[in-house]
Amino acid sequence: MKLPLGPAQRWFAGAALAACTLLGAAPSSALAQGLIRDAEIEDTLRVYTNPLLQAAGLNPADVDLYIIGDPSINAFVAGGQNIFIHTGLVMEAVTPNEVIGVLAHETGHIAGGHGARRSQYASNQALGPMLISLALGVLAIAGGEPGAGAALISGSQQFAMSSFVQYTQAQEASADQAGLSYLEATGQSGQGLISLFNRELRPYEFRTRRIPPYMMTHPFASDRVESLRVGVDAGSHRDAVVGADTERRFRYMQAKLVGFTRTLAQTLARYPTTDLSGPARYARAVAYYRVSDLALARGELDVLMADEPNNPYYQELMGQILFENGRAEESIAFHRRSLELSPNQPLLQTNLARALIQARGRRGADEAIDLLRLVTAAEPDNAFAWRELAQARNERGEEALAELASAEQSFALGDYGLALSFAERARRTLPRSTPDYQRAADIVTFAGAEVRERARQQGGGRRPG
Ligand SMILES: [Zn+2]
Repeated sequence: MKLPLGPAQRWFAGAALAACTLLGAAPSSALAQGLIRDAEIEDTLRVYTNPLLQAAGLNPADVDLYIIGDPSINAFVAGGQNIFIHTGLVMEAVTPNEVIGVLAHETGHIAGGHGARRSQYASNQALGPMLISLALGVLAIAGGEPGAGAALISGSQQFAMSSFVQYTQAQEASADQAGLSYLEATGQSGQGLISLFNRELRPYEFRTRRIPPYMMTHPFASDRVESLRVGVDAGSHRDAVVGADTERRFRYMQAKLVGFTRTLAQTLARYPTTDLSGPARYARAVAYYRVSDLALARGELDVLMADEPNNPYYQELMGQILFENGRAEESIAFHRRSLELSPNQPLLQTNLARALIQARGRRGADEAIDLLRLVTAAEPDNAFAWRELAQARNERGEEALAELASAEQSFALGDYGLALSFAERARRTLPRSTPDYQRAADIVTFAGAEVRERARQQGGGRRPG
């Protein structure tokens, strides 16, 4: 019997919504915190991180990267091998080398096996609920309840900050030195780490209010920056210049995040219409789309697509713009093209599947199901894809398989009660001795055990001591 994954692995971000997940529904004035799934940004952070992980002797496939939609500057490691990076860090960085420096430092924490200070307890027990409530929050936002989602997520974020991430000074110094050695091994400069410290963090050193969260997760003393500087100066790649691809990815990643998370006025202040560069047009296209100015959004995007017809993310954005403006049928061609240009990308597969179901219902269901089976095989914890799969199964009149997909969705979100009830219903009608039947039976077993355990804990109440 194949065991379903435990909560800490199961959460894997519910919603895989085209470009930036939570932002379509988030109030434009305030950025709700939550996990962001975005094929392009995830790819860029992977390209930045994987060589560092390899230099540290780690297997990139074992390390997950998560993007948190939060304007504050922070990055941290939780649950052993998960790197979390705030959008604020990416947006405030001045060079890609600053982001890469932080990733090198976080890799140093992973390679050094640094637990958080209070964390025997935290890493085992607190991580699951935190991650699950993050995923729930994202899903709530995706499901049209942005208020509920934002509350869930900001609660869980505070939980995260206070319960488990805080390294000791010795661990910080050790992660710095390890990070520098990975930068050195990959021919990169450590100067970004110092410039980020000096510009964003050091001014807060003697203040008590509004310190960046990075200072709380990564306490530092002045002498740490000095020893960093010694290490950076000793590096043989101190003055290395980043490659054109690294620079380009950085500019586009920032532009996309600004467009998705800042107001139109803020975006236009940073990327005025006189700026005809690719990143500037990209940021404006996103910002216009978010205020439903489709003509201007398409105007910018048409120029980008003419310049670079093979960029999958331009196609994706156009598909998203059309889809979210009630033109699902038109969006299909763009989502299909994005997937052709970046094959096997689960988030792009999900976009296409969703458009097919929305536009064509029963007629689109066959292809959508093929796509979603690939997505859920690659990302078993992608609750959003399970939800779409349930809908496609329903379109095809496959009620039991739809219930199984809904059971998977609930299980991925840690809603074991609902998972149990869907799985029980699916099990009643699925033909026995099929893999689907077995999977339903497994979920009944494991979700049922969770439900009973929780009931027992609540029934027992809290005892002193
Ligand atoms: Zn650190």
